[in-house]
Amino acid sequence: MVRISILLFFLHFSVNRSVTIDEEKVINLGSKSCKLIRKGNLENRSLFLSLHDDENTSVVAFNEVSQSIGQPVLIELQQSGSRFIKYGYNGLEYSIDPNRIFTEIGLTSTLKKYNKSFPNEVKESLIKFSKQLLELILPSDKKKYIVAIHNNSNDNYSAKSYVGNKDAEKIYMNPAEDVDDFFFVINQQDFEFFKAKKRNVILQSKQATDDGSFSIFCARNSQAYINIEAQDGHKDVQKKMIKEAYELIMSK
Ligand SMILES: [Zn+2]
Repeated sequence: MVRISILLFFLHFSVNRSVTIDEEKVINLGSKSCKLIRKGNLENRSLFLSLHDDENTSVVAFNEVSQSIGQPVLIELQQSGSRFIKYGYNGLEYSIDPNRIFTEIGLTSTLKKYNKSFPNEVKESLIKFSKQLLELILPSDKKKYIVAIHNNSNDNYSAKSYVGNKDAEKIYMNPAEDVDDFFFVINQQDFEFFKAKKRNVILQSKQATDDGSFSIFCARNSQAYINIEAQDGHKDVQKKMIKEAYELIMSK
């Protein structure tokens, strides 16, 4: 009888223990701000990340398959629905690509690329911003996979962009697949997994250019990471890719 009540106590405890998160954090960007939404099951073995606020196919695809993969946490950075986020300082706006801020070199380049000039205060605040984001994004266990979800358009960035490019160590492209739909990984095993499935996949090179992207950060910090790129509107393809990435994670 004692044993049964102890067992019941533990069952009760585990049923009521909160393993899900559903929160919105407002983060300061000078006179502007952005939101970081975190929602899902913290105990899932993966964590999904959407950094570009205009890449909506990926978020819809995630939401439609989430249930079937145990509702992992999705972290979404939102500001005004565009790729770039704006920082406000002294009555002016500064643009940055939120996926180019995770190293100081990358952050400086993104500030230079999208703004005529910028005061050092802006750069310093953005370094703090990127640290704050990382604190909210990174799991305590580096082996827990972060799956970045992105969308591209038909006419620019694709798996083909890596042909003859030092940023890629290995490339596999299946001629039957759209070049805009591809996995981007940072370890050899993951590359082989998607290649065996005949999916377009790029393995990031150890000598890849430091552009401040999250993939560079993860490679340097041994954080497990996969990026799922799909053309805008390729929702069904991206749903399938999300399930395949999850299959890989569960096989580890
Ligand atoms: Zn993106």
